[in-house]
Amino acid sequence: CGIIARIGHGDAADTLLSGLENLEYRGYDSAGIAVQNGSGVKVHKCSGEVSDLKSTLSGRPNGNMGIGHTRWSTHGPPTDENAHPHTDTVGDVAVVHNGVIDNYDELKADLKAKGHEFESDTDTEVIPHLIDEYREKTGNTELAVQRAVDTLEGSYAIAAIVDGEEAVYAARKGSPLVLGLDDEEWFLASDVPAFLDHTEDVIYLEDGDLVVLEPDSYRITDLEGQPVDRSVDTVDWDP
Ligand code: GLU
Repeated sequence: CGIIARIGHGDAADTLLSGLENLEYRGYDSAGIAVQNGSGVKVHKCSGEVSDLKSTLSGRPNGNMGIGHTRWSTHGPPTDENAHPHTDTVGDVAVVHNGVIDNYDELKADLKAKGHEFESDTDTEVIPHLIDEYREKTGNTELAVQRAVDTLEGSYAIAAIVDGEEAVYAARKGSPLVLGLDDEEWFLASDVPAFLDHTEDVIYLEDGDLVVLEPDSYRITDLEGQPVDRSVDTVDWDP
């Protein structure tokens, strides 16, 4: 239902949590975040509210980039396991997703046959496994995200982080996703209130767009990796 991602200098966790609180108006049944700091991807998630998620955290996980999610279940009940982010088998690719993957059943069967182990009932969980599978094949995460997204049928806004990589990857088709540009940090969210405390400069992404955010740069491409030009808007938000 709601996505937030952030990369920049300094820790991301507080920004992710307040971003999720700013998306609560959309309605949700579970919440979670994942952060990355070069020594593993750390996932924290639970059914319930963002306040429940906060109370499960002792302190704040460190890491300058991360992703967050509020879930409105479509596939699988609102349990801790089904909350996002979801990861691949070893836990080095974490993904949040809004929307519905129509062909997840056949993708899941195929991935299981290749040895991938699943922990949830969600349609979403195939996405980190697919990215992992294509990373193995291509040795390049951006290419892997392109290929993974290309095999998905249905609707999605997704954001992903990968262990040891200073980047957030994202893509959309049929679900909203907006990029927020501050001086020293970038955001992605399903709606601008998530990061409006930080910046009013936004790029509304379009279907078929793929985004790579790095600490000091960002790029938007199509699914073949060709650069795409999108204009920066200033939000005139009147809550
Ligand atoms: N289909 C996914 C799920 O059930 C995502 C739902 C959402 O958009 O929050 O977990």
